[in-house]
Amino acid sequence: MKRSAPDRVLRCSFCRKSQDIVAKLIATPGDYPKSYICDACVVICNAILDEERSGKSQPQGFTLLKPREIKQKLDEYVIGQHAAKKRLSVAVYNHYKRVLMPRHPAPGVVPDSEVEVQKSNILLIGPTGTGKTLLAQTMAKILDVPFAITDATTLTEAGYVGEDVENIVLKLLQAANGDIKRAQKGIIYIDEIDKLSRRDENPSITRDVSGEGVQQALLKILEGSIANVPPQGGRKHPHQEFTPVDTTNILFICGGAFVGLEKVVARRIDTRVVGFRNIGIANQAAPGHTPVASDARADLGLLGQVQPQDLIKFGFIPEFVGRLPVTATLGSLDEKALVEILTKPKNSLVKQYQKLFEYEKIEFTLEPPAMKAIARLALERNVGARGLRMIMEELMLDLMYYLPSQPRRVTNFVVTEQMVLEDQRAFRSRLLEKAG
Ligand code: ADP
Repeated sequence: MKRSAPDRVLRCSFCRKSQDIVAKLIATPGDYPKSYICDACVVICNAILDEERSGKSQPQGFTLLKPREIKQKLDEYVIGQHAAKKRLSVAVYNHYKRVLMPRHPAPGVVPDSEVEVQKSNILLIGPTGTGKTLLAQTMAKILDVPFAITDATTLTEAGYVGEDVENIVLKLLQAANGDIKRAQKGIIYIDEIDKLSRRDENPSITRDVSGEGVQQALLKILEGSIANVPPQGGRKHPHQEFTPVDTTNILFICGGAFVGLEKVVARRIDTRVVGFRNIGIANQAAPGHTPVASDARADLGLLGQVQPQDLIKFGFIPEFVGRLPVTATLGSLDEKALVEILTKPKNSLVKQYQKLFEYEKIEFTLEPPAMKAIARLALERNVGARGLRMIMEELMLDLMYYLPSQPRRVTNFVVTEQMVLEDQRAFRSRLLEKAG
């Protein structure tokens, strides 16, 4: 059988156009087998790369987890607070969907100018030490985006001594190692946002700058604008070179304890306030209906029923409230939750101490009654889970100080309830007695 003659015409390996109809055909280096690309295909490849670089398509390495996956990851680090975690997971998912959505519709799709997904910054309300900062921080870790924290009380209106709001963006830029594109998709947590309340009776305002002025100053960056970031922070200087950073896709999470807000809610829903955990009628689970989680809405009391008008009554300007459309409430932590916080999270305090002692080849354990005692002491301090660290630090100080230089080798150390309850001096002498 006669074989057909091999095709001697050189063709582009991408579009198959022949050498004679393209302006230029570039060959791979080396001998054989050779591939070719024509000038038109080089232009198309460049366009694809440009689109990727300009962020129109999904950036490489950014995996957008589904809300349930986000919540599951949060569960590994944050104990309880299921209602807040659920709400946050959905809000963050929607936010990044919006960020990743192509700015131009696909070919053939009629542009729908009516529908524009609005930015949904988040407001976290809950007592101190209940995991607001931890939630925001963990979220950034899960999504692998840069993260910055700032305290609303350090911010000022332009022209006052203090930090300009642009410095918040500078912190994020620094967290992104100067990569503007990465910073523009990061998360900023603004703590103590409740201190910006303009109510005169708010005892927390100790500065002469008005909270309302700072709220005004924050409006633009929360909504999305070009922030002119000074290179080293500090005050703006007319001759400084600024880095323009677009805040449109930066997710802002604001948090605060909002002491007194439950009274505002109570006045609105006409319920008598008994205490922080007072449960409003409207929030109780219907008969036969089990709440999804022990601390879901039903346990959040009045703060779980916050409406935008309550925040305005509390002292926020309506425009500011409008920039924080998603509100999630965190409940106070009880003894059981505090015990779990000691041991369960991936990087729990007990796991951290165990790791430190591993270096000395000492096995470190806390007896369950000791954990409960620590949790009860933390409750007395009224600073949420923050109290756990304080108590553990006090408890562990002597141990960490003396144990490494003990002549007799200690292979394990068990902390009992009694040790926790004894005062530091007694604990120390007992420790020396035990080890010596
Ligand atoms: P705040 O609500 O005041 O922002 P943080 O998130 O800063 O509180 O919490 C302080 C510390 O307490 C955190 O670093 C974390 O170790 C611990 N913590 C607080 N709440 C929780 C929680 N729900 N789960 C696990 N750890 C928590």
